Amino acid sequence: MASLLHDELHLETGIKPHQGLLDQPGILDKDNDIIIDNLPLDYSILDEIEYEYPTQSAYFTFMTKGCTRKCAFCSVPILEPTYKPKIETYDKFQEIKEIYGEQQNLLLMDNNVLASPKFPEIIEEIKQMGFTKGATYIEPNQLEISISNLRGNLNDAAYIRRSYKLLHSMLDRLQNDVKQKFYNILDAYELIKFETTTRENLLLAYEELKHIYEKNRKKSPKLRYVDFNQGTDARYVTDELMKLMSEIPIRPLRIAFDYIGLEKQYTEAVNLAAKYGIKELSNYILYNFQDKPEDLYKRLEININLCKELGIVIFSFPMKYIPLFGEEAKHRNYTGKFWNKKFVRAIQSILNVTKGIVAPSYKNEKQSFFYKAFGNNIEEFFELLYMPETYIIYRSVFEKEMGYTEIWLNEYRNLELNDLNEAKKIIENNDFNNIDEKTNNSNVKHFLRHYQIDRGDLKIEDPKFLKLKKKFDNLIKKDPFLDLTLTYDFEPEIPEISNSEHIFER
Ligand code: SF4
Repeated sequence: MASLLHDELHLETGIKPHQGLLDQPGILDKDNDIIIDNLPLDYSILDEIEYEYPTQSAYFTFMTKGCTRKCAFCSVPILEPTYKPKIETYDKFQEIKEIYGEQQNLLLMDNNVLASPKFPEIIEEIKQMGFTKGATYIEPNQLEISISNLRGNLNDAAYIRRSYKLLHSMLDRLQNDVKQKFYNILDAYELIKFETTTRENLLLAYEELKHIYEKNRKKSPKLRYVDFNQGTDARYVTDELMKLMSEIPIRPLRIAFDYIGLEKQYTEAVNLAAKYGIKELSNYILYNFQDKPEDLYKRLEININLCKELGIVIFSFPMKYIPLFGEEAKHRNYTGKFWNKKFVRAIQSILNVTKGIVAPSYKNEKQSFFYKAFGNNIEEFFELLYMPETYIIYRSVFEKEMGYTEIWLNEYRNLELNDLNEAKKIIENNDFNNIDEKTNNSNVKHFLRHYQIDRGDLKIEDPKFLKLKKKFDNLIKKDPFLDLTLTYDFEPEIPEISNSEHIFER
């Protein structure tokens, strides 16, 4: 935002932000040679605050910068205008290892790593870092690292909090006499409550606790994964590059499918992934840009079909386009040329329950979430886009328990064409206040009563919704990088519903 909405930010806050990269020495401070962009992350700041980041142990870095393309919807060509095909990262890895300890996974933020002619070297370096197929990781002694950083005064506020947390999670794990002994030492050094915990006492107590900690900490090996988390570019994929990618433990392989015109390259890339045994894929599907709603449906369906044909799993993440500049970049209400407020809202409502994921089916294809959520064909998809939001979100309640969905569908399908067109215009604006002022047509008014059920009025427990939500909550928790990957545009929670009265006659 500092670079893209530079003037707006200055105007509104009075703060003049730095515009562009910090990739040369002396941009902020004149008296040293530090290149800020090349510094390893300061992991300790995550421990300064109470909030726990939903990340797992990972090296966060990039091995290239910028991109060779200039997609109109993307900020990368503006933010990082020069493509750098290889950035030295090995030393950065070593520094992270020394200060913060070995990390389990490798999360690479490269915008277009496959564009690099040095991709074979990049893969080689990733392997040198210990990310070979089947490689495992045993967590280092985190308390030892924390205490060592406390001794070195690296970030006292952070490492006091971290040491305290580690000690207490160990206390929770321990049992019987050892637990009592551990507790007694904590108590003796006033480390039971965070408020009384001090750096000095942590250092003293550590000498007495370290053997118990080392003996009882988790040491089971875990698989390591590499994630090019900004997605890879299907247009650059070749047999050779895919083979190289399959030599590292990549999971998931994210391939962008930004518009339907990429279908050929995208499906070829997915086929090559399957050929080389990469079976967990994920992809970003841009919508609300210059695409049509049916393009979104088609791309999602292509993924469902690829999963079936190739025996792989692809999780799709539809991502709503938001302009980069101007007024429309300041809010989330923009609608693309072929979209409208209701359609965008409908997609968000469909995706709400799954936090944005469209998952493949594992059993019966027609029972998959995709067909249920998006319709069995494009006609049904459009009907869903026009369906009242509450009927979409609380699908089983309105469909099965109340039968309203069927009433709505019958009315929708049987409206006279003129009435339907008039109703659609109102629906597309997604504003159902003061309907009387919007139309005099009694048929249309009657039909629009379906849109006046306020979500807040609903109080029916929807077990199907809760079950589905639980399933996807679990899925979200399994993907350690998801929270870093996505800019959610979904409401965090849908209000739970429990019994309400039927509003319409069946
Ligand atoms: S290929 Fe990807 S990173 Fe490059 S400009 Fe297009 S969307 Fe942005």
